[in-house]
Amino acid sequence: MEDSFGHHISYLRVSVTDRCNERCRYCMPEEEQPWFAKEDTLTYEEMTRVVRVGATLGIKRIRVTGGEPLTRPGIAGFCGELTQIPGIEGVGISTNGTLLAKTEGGTTLAEKLVKAGVRTANVSLDSLDRATYQRTTSRDLLPRVLEGIDAAIDAGFDSIRLNCVLMKGQTERELPALIDFARRKNALLRFIELMPVSTQDVLSEDNFLPIATAKQLVEQTTGPLIAEPDFKTNGPAVYHRVPASGQRVGFIGAMTNLHFCENCNKLRLTCDGKLRPCLGSYLEFDLRAVLRGGCTDAELAAFFQNVVARKPKEHDFRDNYQPNRKMIAIGG
Ligand code: SAM
Ligand code: SF4
Repeated sequence: MEDSFGHHISYLRVSVTDRCNERCRYCMPEEEQPWFAKEDTLTYEEMTRVVRVGATLGIKRIRVTGGEPLTRPGIAGFCGELTQIPGIEGVGISTNGTLLAKTEGGTTLAEKLVKAGVRTANVSLDSLDRATYQRTTSRDLLPRVLEGIDAAIDAGFDSIRLNCVLMKGQTERELPALIDFARRKNALLRFIELMPVSTQDVLSEDNFLPIATAKQLVEQTTGPLIAEPDFKTNGPAVYHRVPASGQRVGFIGAMTNLHFCENCNKLRLTCDGKLRPCLGSYLEFDLRAVLRGGCTDAELAAFFQNVVARKPKEHDFRDNYQPNRKMIAIGG
C-alpha cells in the first residue's frame, strides 16, 4: 500500500488494551481512568483477522502495544497467532517491562513471548534511580522492570530496545547510567522527545528536552558520536554510534526532526477498533463497526486502503496540537 505522499505502508501497531499497571506522568493521569468496556475492545480473533487482511495488502511487521499489553490475559498466545499469518515477517512487543519476569508454571512471560515467535521487545526505561522511576511512573516498580529486562535477555529475544522519554531537569543526570546499563545489557537505547499525546500538565515547554541537546549531553559521557544514517530499525529513530565501544544510541525526535514523517510506514489499530493513519492527527476510522457489521475480507481490505489514502503528509504535533484521545487509548 502506498499513500498519496509516497509512504509505503508495511507496519501495523496493534494496541490490545488501554489499561496499564503504571501511570507515567506524560501518558496517563493518576486519577481513576474511564477504561473502554470489555465489549468495546476488539477480541483477539477480531484483531487477528484485521492483521490477516492487512498482510494481504503488504503489512509485514506488527508491534503489539497498549496501554500495557502484558496485562491482557492470553497475550503470548495472541502474538503466536500473529506470527503464523502468511506475509507477517516480524512481531515485536512494546512493554513497560514490569511483567516480563512474571512466572506461570515455571515459565516467564518473556519466555512465552519468545516461544510464540516474538522477536523484539521494546522496554520503557526512563530512569535507573528508584525514586525518579517512581515519580515518573507513579509506581515503585523499578526492581521488577530490571528483573523483566533480565528475563527478556534470558528468554533470547533477537533484540531488546530500551526507550527513554526525555524530560528536561530529569533525564540529563540519568544519561551516563542509562548508557552504561544499555551497553552492559547489550540493548539498543533510544531517547524519545516528549510528544503532546495526552493533556497532562507535564507536556509543557518547561519539561521539553530536544534530542539535539540530549545528544550533546550523551557526548559528554561518550565522546563525539558517529552518525549512522544507514542503520534503521522500523521507525523514525536516527542512530549514532559510540566510537570507543561500538554501542548504538537512537534519537526519536517527533518535534524537532523535520524529516520525522518522511519515511513513515505505519498504521495503528486501537484496542477499540479504530484504524488511525497517524499518531499525531485527529483522523481515525471505525473499523470495529465494519468488522462487527459482518463485512467480507474484501470490504475490510477496501477499508484499509481508504485509510491509507487519507494518511496525512506529516503529523500535526507542531501546530499546538490538542489530542482527541490519549496515548494510552491509541497505543504507543
Ligand atoms: N506500556 C508500554 C510502554 O510503556 O512501553 C507500551 C505503551 S506506551 C504508550 C509506548 C511508548 O510511548 C512508551 O515508550 C512511552 O514511554 C511512550 N510515550 C507515552 N507517552 C508519551 C509522550 N507524551 N511522549 C513521548 N512518548 C510517550
Ligand atoms: Fe502505561 Fe506505558 Fe503509558 Fe507508562 S507509557 S502509563 S507504562 S502505557
